[in-house]
Formats: sequence, C-alpha cells, structure tokens
Amino acid sequence: MKNYDFLIVGAGLFGAVIAHRATQAGKRCLVIDKRQHIGGNVYCEKIEGINVHKYGAHIFHTSNKEIWDFVNSIVPFNRYTNCPVAYAPDGKLYNLPFNMNTFYQMWGVKNPAEAMDKLKEQRQDAIDRMKADGISEPRNLEEQALCLIGKDIYEKLIKHYTEKQWGRPCTELPAFIIRRLPVRLTFDNNYFNDTYQGIPIGGYNLLIEGLLKGCDIRLGVDFKEIKQSWNDIAEKLVYTGPIDEYFDFKLGRLDWRTVRFETEILNIPNYQGNAVVNYTDSLTNWTRIIEHKHFESFGDGVYENPKTVISREFSTEFKSGMEPYYPVNDNRNNSLAEKYRQLADKEDNVIFGGRLADYKYYDMAPVIEQAMKVQI
Ligand code: UDP
Repeated sequence: MKNYDFLIVGAGLFGAVIAHRATQAGKRCLVIDKRQHIGGNVYCEKIEGINVHKYGAHIFHTSNKEIWDFVNSIVPFNRYTNCPVAYAPDGKLYNLPFNMNTFYQMWGVKNPAEAMDKLKEQRQDAIDRMKADGISEPRNLEEQALCLIGKDIYEKLIKHYTEKQWGRPCTELPAFIIRRLPVRLTFDNNYFNDTYQGIPIGGYNLLIEGLLKGCDIRLGVDFKEIKQSWNDIAEKLVYTGPIDEYFDFKLGRLDWRTVRFETEILNIPNYQGNAVVNYTDSLTNWTRIIEHKHFESFGDGVYENPKTVISREFSTEFKSGMEPYYPVNDNRNNSLAEKYRQLADKEDNVIFGGRLADYKYYDMAPVIEQAMKVQI
C-alpha cells in the first residue's frame, strides 16, 4: 500500500489549496518544495516586525464571493486597497490606474466630459494609422495602449515601465497585458475593479500554513530526485512546477521573466507614503519600490514601528537556476506551452496547475478557483 493519496509538488497557492481540499476529504497528502519554505512566491519574511513580500507585492483581489469567503475562513483579510502611484519621466507623480486624478494631473481636465475630449484627441493618431493600415484589432501592446489611452500616457506611464518589466519593445508584446489595467472616468485610485480586496492579517504565511494543516511537508526536496519513483509514494501527483521542466525540456525551453529585489531597512517610519510606487521613466533601473508596512498598517498605525523596509524591484530575463515569475506570453512561447499542455493531457494520474505549470499570467484568486475545480 502507498503511503499517500497525493504527492503535491510545490507548496504555493495551487498546491496548498489542493492539499487542503484533499485533507478535508480524508486523503493523505505529502507536499514537497525545493525551497526551504512553504508558500511559493506569496511567502513573506518577517523583518523588523514587518511582513516583507519576499517575491514581490501580492495583493489579493476577487469578485468571487465563494473564493473570498474561503480564504477568509482560513485567515481574516484586512482592508488594504491598492492605489499605486507612478513616478514619471517628467519628475511628477501620477495616480494609477488611469483615472480622473491621472487625467487632471496630466492635462488639467476637471470633469469626465473634458477628459473624454482630451482622450479622443490623444487616441486619434493611432486610430487613423490603424485605419490607414487596414487593421481592426491592435496587434501589439503599443497599438493597444495608444488606442486605449493615447500618446501622452503611453509615453509617460506605460512605455518605459513595460519595457523594463518585460525586457522587450512594446511593439513585440501581446496587447492583453495592458488590458489588465482599468481606464476610468471617475476619481477612483483603486487599482482593481474587484468587489473584494485585502491582505491576510498577519501575512500570507498564515494562509498557507492554514491550508497545509494536516499534511506532511518536506522542504528542500527537488522533484527531480524522486521523479522516477513518485508512483511508489502516492496514487496521484499534483505538479505545480514549470511544465517544460516536468518534460525535461524535450520540446525546448519556455522563457520567463524573473525579478531581483534589493531590500533595505530604513531608520524612518515612512519612506514613500504608499505601498507601491512605480517608476515609469527610463533612467531609473528599477520598475518599482515596495514599502511593505503599508500593506498592513494604516493611518497613524504606520508610525507605531519607527523603522520601515523597502524593496527595489529589478526585472530580468530568467536563466536556469533562478526563480521563474512571469510567463512571456509571446507567440513562440504560447505555442510551445500549448505543445507541452498536449503532452500533459496524456499523463495518467497527474494534475497540472498554477502559474508555472499552466504557463499563464494568473493572479492569486484564479489560481485558487482553478484548484477548487479539480476533482479530488
Ligand atoms: N503597466 C504600465 N505602467 C504601470 C503599471 C503597469 O505600463 O505603471 C503595464 C505594464 O505593461 C504591466 C501591465 O501594465 O506589465 C500589468 O501591470 P500589473 O500591475 O498588472 O502587473 P503585475 O502586478 O502583475 O506585475
């Protein structure tokens, strides 16, 4: 008899939700992770009493009440609302996402009618150019951004940030990336349109620890070492690592973007007055600075800790041995990922899921939704 019903490779959100559901259903689970901690990229490290998002800012948002209630049943979430600010090439700060505050700061327009006139004027060039070329749908991120929001905002808030983040010209990036950002004719700086948003009180580690309760966990174990014999250990395998790695890269390697952080402790209580400041200029090398305490302290609470921790975020191309973060969803990579998916469909008793195995630019809530649908 095998010791476990499930061997779960990867202690991130997808693996942890499956582990939770399987344990609740009376199944035995072994969760392994090659890192020395659980949580995958939502893992937080406590520094100076502050939960530092070690692998970049994670802000939970969803409109799915079932998912919101589920995560809150594991650990209550706070009222954090993401309102990033952008430091632009003109040296000024602008509110994000693109809304009436941004339009007022950019052009001095004071109401939606004035903003609409200005946006129409700003978009016109791109629309005329596409018409002249006989194109009905934007072919890349640059065309999409110019049609959506026009040239000033594209130049000041999108172009350089995007090229720093993805390491490719906007003309070579897919249009959908920029459609993640809302465009609003209201004075609303909330980055997300979702009904629910927040950060687990006490940090993401509590969420993952709660989900993994009742499972066996082995850290520092690379799946490669037990790949040949996994079926001796468990009936079923849940694999959340990179899909190309599972198949020993036999069809070629997928590209990823990775992120490097420079984290600093400062002897001041409040460095930038906000959790997230994006640097949308081309001279600054980092894409953004995260000041972690603002995810969990509000109002005067910010001053209870005399210190603060900030992380500068540098986006770089992934090389073997680094942690993969973002899939690069260009045509080459998408079609390669599709071929790997076809191989995955033929694997018996293996469930693939999460950002790395699906090679999809998922937020956290859709990963949980996906894990909720898996038949245990
Ligand atoms: N983006 C931008 N300027 C900004 C913030 C975002 O141009 O100040 C674009 C950029 O192309 C980025 C995309 O919007 O890749 C999606 O941003 P999001 O904040 O969703 O990225 P994530 O938080 O997943 O890194």
